[in-house]
Amino acid sequence: MLGNLGRSLSKTMKKLAGMTIVDEEVVREVIKDIQRALIQSDVNVKLVFKLSKSIENRALNEEPPRGITPKEHIIRIVYEEMVKLVGEKAQELSIDEKPYRILFLGLQGSGKTTTIGKLARHLRRRGFTVGVVCTDTWRPAAFEQLKQYTEGQDIDVYGDPQNRDAVDLARKGLEEFQKKDVIIFDTAGRHKEEKDLLNEMEELSDVVRPHEAILVIDGTIGQQAREQALAFREATDIGSIIVTKLDGSAKGGGALSAVAEIGAPIKFIGTGERIEDLEVFDPERFISRLLGMGDLRSLLEKVEEVSEEDISEESLDAILSGRFTLKDMRVQFEMMGKMGPLQQIMKMLPGMGKLPKDASKMTEETIKRYLIIMDSMTDEELEKPDIIKHSRIRRIARGSGTRNEDVKDLLKYYKVTKKAMKGLGRRKMGGPMGQLMRQFMR
Ligand code: GDP
Ligand code: MG
Repeated sequence: MLGNLGRSLSKTMKKLAGMTIVDEEVVREVIKDIQRALIQSDVNVKLVFKLSKSIENRALNEEPPRGITPKEHIIRIVYEEMVKLVGEKAQELSIDEKPYRILFLGLQGSGKTTTIGKLARHLRRRGFTVGVVCTDTWRPAAFEQLKQYTEGQDIDVYGDPQNRDAVDLARKGLEEFQKKDVIIFDTAGRHKEEKDLLNEMEELSDVVRPHEAILVIDGTIGQQAREQALAFREATDIGSIIVTKLDGSAKGGGALSAVAEIGAPIKFIGTGERIEDLEVFDPERFISRLLGMGDLRSLLEKVEEVSEEDISEESLDAILSGRFTLKDMRVQFEMMGKMGPLQQIMKMLPGMGKLPKDASKMTEETIKRYLIIMDSMTDEELEKPDIIKHSRIRRIARGSGTRNEDVKDLLKYYKVTKKAMKGLGRRKMGGPMGQLMRQFMR
């Protein structure tokens, strides 16, 4: 879905993630790449410009929060601003009254009937009973089409090809399905005059009294989606929007951003012709996927949590100045414990799908063992690891139920890490995540 846009955006983000220095020039270059990608996928130029400005302003003026490297900071800004572009928070379709009446609106060919089939299935699989009412009196096979889409799914369809009165069909369907949890009304959306179309919609709306009117918009029309959505909004209360045909459409980005701008939430997107090609639309998940960074959001949240809780100013200073003790290392291990398996953390990091060879040796098990070993050390030993020699090693191993070799491994690991930290301090690269990464990249 939105393959090209996704490819160019994730390429940009990987490039950014791979940079060692992040300065003004880099920020501008990243923004230019993003602009190019968005405009190519037909996002409105004004919106693109607005987005670039906010990214630039924030990237150049906002201080990275403590515990976040400048690079992570910029990645987060790009991500947050992109999320805003398509609508901020996910809005669920919640069936809070029964029967919950949904009226589908949209031009002919936008994908209403197909999407109704998909949505009915989606709801049925969540345990709701669903009735679908066909009020399309234009298309001779409309009723058949609905029956086909819902076949074998325990979904009832009401229709009558002989009846030419859409409003009457709606009224009868409503009666028929009083006991259902959800009733979905399909409409024709085909009229010579826009005025007639809107009139019929108003009449239907009066009879159905929908809890939610869902506007279906064809994603391949790009920026024009905005005009269409606005026209419908004039005539009815649009509760939510579904954008269809986002599979492989170059213009999908245009439709999504244009529609998000009008204010009604996009709740689902259609990503194919098959019945299962319906996705709940979650701006945050959508963008992080588009940027190609797995679950960037939860990673950033975790980094925040950890950095606030666990890294005191002193220990950060100590680390950066090269005064790195076993106590500091213990803090790092505990931090890793909280963030979950290393493998997972690495996967979430942009541009680091795979764990470097050496890092894979540091399994969770090893970390746990090292923590136990450190529990058997005295304060003095933790502060001044150099004093730990043969007899102390034996004592610590016995106390922690490990082997001498394990204690020696830990000390060796500590030395390597300390050296790495010194290097870090010199290069002035703060942030626990940066340290962690660097530590394991060696
Ligand atoms: P309606 O006139 O609004 O009811 O539109 P239909 O549901 O009949 O769909 C019109 C055409 O669009 C059909 O050929 C559908 O298969 C196709 N279509 C609908 N949704 C999607 C989608 O998400 N992706 C693709 N590729 N085609 C779709
Ligand atoms: Mg139809």
